[in-house]
Amino acid sequence: MTETGTLIRLGVSQCLLGDAVRYDGRDKRHPWICGPLAAAAELVPLCPETGIGLPVPRPPIVLRGDRARPEARVPAQGERDLSTALRAHARSQRARLQALDGFILKARSPSCGLDDVPLLGPHGGRRGTTSGLFAAELRTWSGRPLVSEAGLSTPAARRAFAEAVHLCHQWRAMAAGRDPARARAFLQRYRLLLMAHGRRRYRALLAAAERLGEAGDGCPGALLALLRHPATRRRRLACLRRLQRQDLPPLDPARARQVAQAIEGFAAGDRDHAATLARLRRLLPTDALPPPARALLHPEPALARLLAAAGNPEPGAHD
Ligand code: SF4
Repeated sequence: MTETGTLIRLGVSQCLLGDAVRYDGRDKRHPWICGPLAAAAELVPLCPETGIGLPVPRPPIVLRGDRARPEARVPAQGERDLSTALRAHARSQRARLQALDGFILKARSPSCGLDDVPLLGPHGGRRGTTSGLFAAELRTWSGRPLVSEAGLSTPAARRAFAEAVHLCHQWRAMAAGRDPARARAFLQRYRLLLMAHGRRRYRALLAAAERLGEAGDGCPGALLALLRHPATRRRRLACLRRLQRQDLPPLDPARARQVAQAIEGFAAGDRDHAATLARLRRLLPTDALPPPARALLHPEPALARLLAAAGNPEPGAHD
């Protein structure tokens, strides 16, 4: 098993990092990204608008036309069309961007926004929402988790993103996209994490391991789709019970009782998931644990750092 002590590398919209690159000459510094996350991961700034040579400040861009393939226009410059330049810029960065593990993009930006950018008709008037042109390109081929800063507002959401980014990182570290046996090894090792996103989805992935093992370097779409599906409390409980039934070495009766109490404490709502894992971690040290139990209870250092940065769920949150 490849154990990566290396930092996770995330591409981040540059204005979120506190750089004044926005159209209005300002930044959108995000305290959590610039604080705890910056200490736990390497953050790589991305600004597609200055990347295509636009100045700071500059007139704002709007999106018009078709939802599936909108145009980026500058009303203050006679509807200047920046669509080709923004899409070509994203494609020209492909090799550099695919060296990263995931992306945090500025919400509602006509370049960086994900699904929440106002889409205007030819003469104004809102027609719904779409994605910014850079973000849409990235989503098409990056094979990495993408999220907006607005989607990271709670510890639970940050933990989910951390886990998705880390699992995609590990997919690549294990070269799981190179052959079916490696894909199966990945899916087995992270079984207890993945099944929390849906047992049927996990089984479908396992059944598709032949195809996944020929997916190349990117994290396969089916795996990204599973990770986007929320890990519910009910599914997490099912995974903990599965751990108890199938994935532990023989325990002495006192230890087995403590493990059962910790899991039933989660079932009763006495402890959240993070606190339950911490309790189980103390009861079940790494040695002698089989790989799926180790992956669930003793995350690799890169993930442990990200989870610590994400913070603990709020009391009462159904993490
Ligand atoms: S293009 Fe993206 S990174 Fe650049 S200022 Fe706009 S939202 Fe921020």
